[in-house]
Amino acid sequence: MDDYDKQIDQLDVLGSTQTVVKQALTKLGYPNEMYELLSEPLRMLTVRIPIRMDDGSTKIFTGYRAQHNDSVGPTKGGVRFHPDVTEREVKALSIWMSLKAGIVDLPYGGGKGGIVCDPREMSFRELERLSRGYVRAISQVVGPTKDIPAPDVFTNSQIMAWMLDEYSKIREFDSPNFITGKPLVLGGSHGRESATARGVTICINEATKKVGIDLTDAKVVIQGFGNAGSFLAKFLHDAGAKVVGIGDAYGALYEPDGLDVDYLLDRRDSFGTVTKLFKNTITNEELLELDCDILVPAAIENQITKDNAHNIKASIIVEAANGPTTMEATEILAERGVLLVPDVLASSGGVTVSYFEWVQNNQGYYWTDEEVEGKLEIVIKNAFNSIYQLSKTRRVNMRLAAYMIGVRKMAEASRFRGWV
Ligand code: GLU
Repeated sequence: MDDYDKQIDQLDVLGSTQTVVKQALTKLGYPNEMYELLSEPLRMLTVRIPIRMDDGSTKIFTGYRAQHNDSVGPTKGGVRFHPDVTEREVKALSIWMSLKAGIVDLPYGGGKGGIVCDPREMSFRELERLSRGYVRAISQVVGPTKDIPAPDVFTNSQIMAWMLDEYSKIREFDSPNFITGKPLVLGGSHGRESATARGVTICINEATKKVGIDLTDAKVVIQGFGNAGSFLAKFLHDAGAKVVGIGDAYGALYEPDGLDVDYLLDRRDSFGTVTKLFKNTITNEELLELDCDILVPAAIENQITKDNAHNIKASIIVEAANGPTTMEATEILAERGVLLVPDVLASSGGVTVSYFEWVQNNQGYYWTDEEVEGKLEIVIKNAFNSIYQLSKTRRVNMRLAAYMIGVRKMAEASRFRGWV
């Protein structure tokens, strides 16, 4: 690390992302101007959304939409509803979306949105008004060939449906290609809901081959039981792996002989909470350090830091969440020989099937579940293997290799357009 890196606040996801983008561009031989262009989103919109609450009061919510780079195509990325959303986080998330699009070779740049709110404390109708209010507030800058939203933390197909309906009303024509992650009856795609977990599963399969672990005897720990974590627990359990630990926002569960995954899936609520139903829980900190072969952080940022990276027992870490490992922890794990499959690769299944959804909407022709799954598998396997190869030939960790592949197309497109 150089002095610039040392000054970075390790928990500042934007600063950390910028540092790795800079390292990747330097390795690829780009001048500093390219870094200047790609280190921040091209556009960042902040909106204030007044919402009438069920008790008659009015609450003003803050929302964001960041559009990182549209040299390759329209920007694309989810909208998260979370009390801790910040402007810097949304900017970092938009850069990560650009990298994912580059890694799986989609004709998009990255975008991201967020609203500072706690959907767990809001009624169904309040959430509908907030979703519609957000679309009204950002409608000028989004659209099927401009910027295409999708689900993210605490948003789902129902929220996408309200957003689609609001957008179609504003534009006065049906626009299923405005947003992805929709319910099937509104033009959603087969396999979209489970796509992030499918992508993670494909990465786990590839990683176990490299490390020489048999998935059917592997012990797995998953932190997070939301969209990615819950489907993943199911897929890995069905594949014969032993899911020994899972966590949610309130705590974690551990069973060395393997948890009853079907029971937990049955009892989880729509926000991925299940541990509240149990007395014998452990903390999320303890969960990450459990004895296991594969660890999947599938919740939020900054979970693996310099404070716990030395204590992690897993030999493979696959980042289903965005940004769960700090830069310092990434280095510690690399030194310890842990194979870390970075977020921008491991979690790219979601946006890949979002792209398939958008293509189907544009064509008005819909694919089967098998077609979606088959195409996703090819995309993720290829991406994994090119990043793994590059990490070997250039002697860099998988994160830096992923960033190098992720920025390449966008940097080239920006150059062809004459921006740098
Ligand atoms: N929110 C997901 C992500 O972080 C999916 C984005 C999309 O489908 O556009 O990758």
